[in-house]
Amino acid sequence: MSVLVMKFGGTSVATLDRIKRAAKRVGREVANGHDVIVIVSAMSGKTNELVGWVGETSPLFDAREYDAVVSSGENVTAGLMALTLQEMDIPARSWQGWQVPLKTNGAHGAARIEEIPTDNLNAKFGQGMRVAVVAGFQGISPEGRITTLGRGGSDTTAVAFAAAFEAVRCDIYTDVDGVYTTDPRITSKARKLDRIAFEEMLELASLGAKVLQTRSVELAMRYKVKLRVLSSFDEYDETAGTLVCEEDEVMENNVVAGVAYSRDEAKMTLISVADRPGIAAAIFGPLAEAGVNVDMIVQNISEEGRTDMTFSCPVDQVKRAEQAMAQAKERGEIAYHDLVADTEVAKVSVVGIGMRSHAGVAARMFKSLRDENVNIKVITTSEIKISVLIDRKYMELAVQALHDTFELEKAG
Ligand code: ADP
Ligand code: ASP
Ligand code: MG
Repeated sequence: MSVLVMKFGGTSVATLDRIKRAAKRVGREVANGHDVIVIVSAMSGKTNELVGWVGETSPLFDAREYDAVVSSGENVTAGLMALTLQEMDIPARSWQGWQVPLKTNGAHGAARIEEIPTDNLNAKFGQGMRVAVVAGFQGISPEGRITTLGRGGSDTTAVAFAAAFEAVRCDIYTDVDGVYTTDPRITSKARKLDRIAFEEMLELASLGAKVLQTRSVELAMRYKVKLRVLSSFDEYDETAGTLVCEEDEVMENNVVAGVAYSRDEAKMTLISVADRPGIAAAIFGPLAEAGVNVDMIVQNISEEGRTDMTFSCPVDQVKRAEQAMAQAKERGEIAYHDLVADTEVAKVSVVGIGMRSHAGVAARMFKSLRDENVNIKVITTSEIKISVLIDRKYMELAVQALHDTFELEKAG
């Protein structure tokens, strides 16, 4: 039997009616002869609500209990999806992460998958079960506690199952009909891509395009999973959606493939730290230990042996960062005059494999932002991307301007 993995995101299971709609799609694939593993998210909005409750109860929460709470949304949709399929006379059973068991490491809130044994599900498929509905996003740690895979983690659950079961394909059903040149909610000029290379998708995802979780793209790339993103609302056809694939299978050759943004950034500046060997380690060591995901870093020119150090991190980690720095100061490991947090910034990035061989992309990007009067606060680059930190109020304007500048509405 060939196994197909189908993942339904939050909006695709937001109501009982939508679960029915999704179940019909599953039914069609069963009729096509596949054994299906369905990965479900929580109903849309549910995980946000649960995360909010945790933060309200305990601002610097225990990550084990965070996972206990926020993983629960997926349990509901898994059970409801199995019941809906049973009502359609399709033999189906639901599985929570620990029942599979989907084994992860102990990094609560952002756990990594270590192993997915296939014997439990395969035994059931052998006995006539046609659909295994698995709660996405959740696993079990070596200590036997529930873990979650980070926001958007059901995508990663889906790809990991596709790899473990050598699925013919992993279909990610969502509320847009594929991967676009930028978030179609920001500009109507965004264009759907028929195909996108793993590496570009990986950069777009890690720079904020939440259509796929970064880790899911990494896994698909490593295990050569055939990964497709498509709408759960449109009528189905074989060529629907976007295929994430190898670079040489992509026909387009735009220098820039897409524009990504991340709204939830903060810029932190440590004012007047000693410019001495080891200062970066003394700052970023404690931040890492506190679980702060530092992204961009700039060290300013020093004057009389003192300098300002600027870094960016997710805005919801500002408190953690401040606490880690205050503690390092108390321990005498660093001295600084002040720590200033700018929580009104966003990151905008352009991504494209073509940048490897084309010069001048950065210059065009900066000119485009200048023409819109957008001030750039921090810049970082890599081989296939350029990112800037700007005031959040200009984020949409910047994305639209860059989309125009690189003429992404036209296929290259
Ligand atoms: P799901 O709940 O199905 O997992 P998500 O909300 O996580 O859906 O991801 C889909 C959303 O990703 C879209 O609604 C869209 O607003 C956003 N998005 C951001 N960048 C892109 C892009 N380049 N292409 C398509 N969608 C994107
Ligand atoms: N429900 C989780 C979230 O909203 C996981 C997911 O939907 O992928 O982050
Ligand atoms: Mg998602």
